[in-house]
Amino acid sequence: MSKVLIIGAGGVGQVVAYKCAQHPEVFSSIMLASRTKSKCENIAAQILLKYDIDIKTAKIDAEDVPALVKLLRRFKPQLVINVALPYQDLTIMDACLEAGVNYLDTANYEPKDEAKYQYSWQWAYQERFEKAGLMAVLGCGFDPGATNVFTAYAAKHHFDEMHMLDIVDANAGSHGKAFATNFNPEINIREITQNGKYYENGTWIETAPFAIKKDLNYPNIGSKTSYVIYHEELESLVKHFPTLQRARFWMTFGEEYLTHLRVIQNIGMAGIEPIIFKGKKIIPIEFLKAVLPNPGDLGENYTGFTSIGCRISGVKNGEKRTYYIWNNCSHAAAYEETGTQGVSYTTGVPATIGAMMMLSKQWSGNGVFNIEQLNPDPFLKKMNEMGLPWHEAHNIDLEV
Ligand code: NDP
Repeated sequence: MSKVLIIGAGGVGQVVAYKCAQHPEVFSSIMLASRTKSKCENIAAQILLKYDIDIKTAKIDAEDVPALVKLLRRFKPQLVINVALPYQDLTIMDACLEAGVNYLDTANYEPKDEAKYQYSWQWAYQERFEKAGLMAVLGCGFDPGATNVFTAYAAKHHFDEMHMLDIVDANAGSHGKAFATNFNPEINIREITQNGKYYENGTWIETAPFAIKKDLNYPNIGSKTSYVIYHEELESLVKHFPTLQRARFWMTFGEEYLTHLRVIQNIGMAGIEPIIFKGKKIIPIEFLKAVLPNPGDLGENYTGFTSIGCRISGVKNGEKRTYYIWNNCSHAAAYEETGTQGVSYTTGVPATIGAMMMLSKQWSGNGVFNIEQLNPDPFLKKMNEMGLPWHEAHNIDLEV
């Protein structure tokens, strides 16, 4: 029985709050805190209509460490689930250290003024968490998150050595809007407009954005054009599985989406440098976020599936093997259960499972961990039970 503080009341925060509320045997008391308190209150009110749970709300600026420490000391949670934005990771980690609370997030730290994410900033907290006797679990959404667990599971059960890893992420859903992003538009657009990058034979190879593409077949979906983009879990996976000779991340994009993105970039709306507009400093991408559809509101009438998985080749007992492990998630089913679309759902469910793993001590240790360093088996068991069933195929053509 544990108290948990969820920070961030967007689409992902909503799913985490719902999923925690479904498991009062683990999460005896929940506090949902975010910058805009009314969003927390709306989510809590919806949840209380369905579940008999102790859920509180609070207003917090997660970049204000003293205020965070005060909130942590008042509520006394065992764990913070950080589903605010990547910009707040370090301040929340600082506050957790000061107040003696464990930490989990779904996206690695990114400075606001530079579209660059890497684990070095958070890995630098290793010694401090270790000395404090606390655990910080990084990147526990779907990708990063479940994809790291899938890779760890493959390494544990199906390979002596993994050589090639291709993470494949398809969103074959339709929300009926001309252009919308499925999670925070600012973070999403910063992520996909950067150069492509993948790992091969010990080095990182950089390409122009969307330079490598291929049609890949996704289970129960069919063929989708998929593009190599850089994604944060590649950095930790090649570190923790050093036999990997190549690691890439593929994501599907439709023509219409890419055309909108090109226009947004060409007219400067993806810019992160401040400009002066009517005497006020504004950041173009922040303004763009304000006019785009709210990802948390896309769920109604969203049809189709996401399909995210890992395609891996390597050797077992001296023989070449291939392996594919994936989950398909229905946007409509996610909406029916939690009022949000599949991308928020596929992020929030693994975050809740990670929290369960930590609170039940199935995952334990002092320091900072990427989740492939932890036991994949109980996590995957929970994925099946908590709405994200996974499937596997052996020795098939991986297409990559
Ligand atoms: P949203 O933008 O919908 O929600 C973010 C929430 O954080 C909002 O409630 C926002 O408040 C709050 N917030 C922002 N700044 C602060 C602050 N300074 N203090 C307190 N609260 C703040 O994002 P999503 O729910 O779509 O995504 C949440 C996280 O999940 C992101 O970090 C994203 O990168 C990550 N993610 C990870 C994925 C994975 O698979 N690993 C996939 C998808 C997302 P306000 O309402 O006032 O704006």
